[in-house]
Amino acid sequence: MPEPLDERGKQRLRLRRSLLGLGGGAVFVALLGASYVLGFFRGTMQDFLLLMAMLVVGALAAPVLILTNQNLRFPDPSLTMLQIVIATIVSFSSIYFLDQLRAVFLMVYLTTMIFAAFRLKLAGFFFITAMALSCYGTVILLLLQYHPEAIQLRAEMIHWLGFAFTLGGFSLSGSELSELRRKVSRQNQDLSSALLTIRQQAITDELTGAFNRRHILEILKYQKSLADRGRYSFVVCYADLDHFKRVNDHFGHNVGDMVLQKFSQLTREAIREVDIIARFGGEEFLLVMVDTSLDSAIKAMERVREGIAEFSFGDMAPGLNITVSLGVTAYHPGDSIDDLINRADEALYEAKQQGRNQVAVKA
Ligand code: GH3
Ligand code: MG
Ligand code: MG
Repeated sequence: MPEPLDERGKQRLRLRRSLLGLGGGAVFVALLGASYVLGFFRGTMQDFLLLMAMLVVGALAAPVLILTNQNLRFPDPSLTMLQIVIATIVSFSSIYFLDQLRAVFLMVYLTTMIFAAFRLKLAGFFFITAMALSCYGTVILLLLQYHPEAIQLRAEMIHWLGFAFTLGGFSLSGSELSELRRKVSRQNQDLSSALLTIRQQAITDELTGAFNRRHILEILKYQKSLADRGRYSFVVCYADLDHFKRVNDHFGHNVGDMVLQKFSQLTREAIREVDIIARFGGEEFLLVMVDTSLDSAIKAMERVREGIAEFSFGDMAPGLNITVSLGVTAYHPGDSIDDLINRADEALYEAKQQGRNQVAVKA
């Protein structure tokens, strides 16, 4: 699924579209050149060169602005409207000089509407339609005034009407198309963010916000593959809240849930950013301390134990005290994930046996 485009991706897309416009400009240069060479151009050579210069500058404007990032200063950085306005002015200036080929050049002008479909809304299409029709009307009036021999007013009026209908049709269908595009792109964004949420939910324990069992097993697999490859070691700790059943029995399940959340939060704060905490089940958590020696991991786990024992859970429910037992072990090359977790569990069992609220180690 496509992720939302970042600014660089957007610039690339804008550049590609402006190059399409540049290609259109090149085709127009060829057509205008051929018309001149074949004697269909009524104006002087100066008129012709001026038009060509307008055409080249106009066609290069958008790609150059986008390449230099200057387009970002415009309200619409895609420069769609700018390109279309330029195309309209150049087209109708040419049409003024191309008596017999007027109809062909009007047809060619319609391709600009295809560019508009990428971007413009209905109002934009109406603006272009109005501009093109006024330009065409102006051309007709200028011809009537200065070259009446080059125009048949009645036929030209029918042309104008036909052109108006065609532009109207393009505008309506183009704006539908661009509305559809916007809708699809909005839906894509919604889907991307939904996917992100689902991915997050798939690895998170709902109650505590810690990772869930499935994800910590994935992490352990990954840590194991790193450790098996080189001089890298990690330590695992199995943590189990002491006498948690009594907490539920005396204070209720809700308080039990709050304790689990608080435990997760306090532990998270006590370990390093790179270390990982996951709820392995019920009131049991698994901690992974990456790239660490056993000694420093034991110290960290002592900190966690102390932090929990000293935290005033009494504020949550009067008389509530919480302690935790922790079993620590380091990964040995060749261990399976089960070996590792079982060893941590054995260490935890020892911590419980020795009276709880302590850290036990199985090297
Ligand atoms: P020990 O010190 O030996 O670990 O004793 P314990 O009471 O903590 O151990 P036990 O395994 O007997 O009880 C675990 C309790 O944890 C039982 C269960 O009701 C409670 N528990 C498990 N999951 C949740 C939960 O999501 N919310 C709450 N409130 N309690 C839970
Ligand atoms: Mg337990
Ligand atoms: Mg317990």
